[in-house]
Amino acid sequence: MTRIFSGIKPTGHLTLGNYLGALRRWVEVDQYQADALFSVVDLHALTMEHEPARVLRLSRQAATLMMAAGLDPEQCTVFVQSHVDEHARLSYLLECTATDGELRRMIQYKEKGARAQAAGASVRVSLLTYPVLMAADILAYGTDEVPVGDDQTQHVELTRDLAVRFNQRYGHTFTVPKATHPPVAARVMDLQDPTSKMGKSQESGAGIVYLLDDADVVRKKIMRAVTDSGREVEYDRESRPGIANLLDMLAACTSGNPNELAGAYDSYGALKKDTAEAVVELLKPVRERHAGLAADPGYVDDVLRKGAERARGLARPRVDAAYRAIGL
Ligand code: ADP
Repeated sequence: MTRIFSGIKPTGHLTLGNYLGALRRWVEVDQYQADALFSVVDLHALTMEHEPARVLRLSRQAATLMMAAGLDPEQCTVFVQSHVDEHARLSYLLECTATDGELRRMIQYKEKGARAQAAGASVRVSLLTYPVLMAADILAYGTDEVPVGDDQTQHVELTRDLAVRFNQRYGHTFTVPKATHPPVAARVMDLQDPTSKMGKSQESGAGIVYLLDDADVVRKKIMRAVTDSGREVEYDRESRPGIANLLDMLAACTSGNPNELAGAYDSYGALKKDTAEAVVELLKPVRERHAGLAADPGYVDDVLRKGAERARGLARPRVDAAYRAIGL
């Protein structure tokens, strides 16, 4: 059976980007068609300045939201990364496989490193090595497929390179995984700045739809989305990123095609209105289920404990084999 692994960092409240780019497909397809593991990757939340209590709170919230979105613990394994030591154990071996040149080329490292420096903060070593830990997350489980948004393509490529290199040097140990992306909305853009991705770690919330936003807040954010001064509704991600972003969101919510949808609108206002309503409808059941789950923290704890037990059992033999293969 195909093995799937993917994760979400608890660095902020989950966004519509996380949902359309990754979570929705985990819920609707992956958990039923594969042996799927989904993790709150909390170690990755320590690469930039962080507040310990906030990481803990956001980890629990992310796990709760993943289930509210529809991950069913009977169908898949949900767990917190730091509950399974194998990730950090394997990461070190992969640090001995990666080169500093290939890590310095990572776009996210360049962007976030520059942002940290601009804010006068020093750059943590873990920001550079983060993709290696991500490779360990994936390779520890013999993963075949990694369903992610488009922003993670480069990191999954690195994971493949490391798996191939390790196998060539020390004998076949790891499955070489591949990334999979949703057909539309693989990169949801910020509503106030449609040239940058809608990311949960961003400072301002005005351009970001959070999964737990009230219906009216969602409507307001989408109606105020930055577009351009044109009038015709046209799908062109390069020259009309704001409109294309709305069309992508609407297409993803209605299982439509952004190009065809463009032809159905003759004003930006009508497109915004329909997009807002479609997103509100999409998120409604998630918010409702979240309220129920948040009221039962014992249940969430239990799911995470069992999930970590299963994940540990799966990862340990493969990581042990990697230690033997490398000469330890
Ligand atoms: P973030 O960038 O919001 O901190 P994570 O790194 O935790 O997100 O990513 C969790 C998943 O959500 C990944 O598969 C990532 O590719 C996806 N994702 C994040 N932001 C977006 C976006 N704006 N559009 C599409 N997918 C996204």
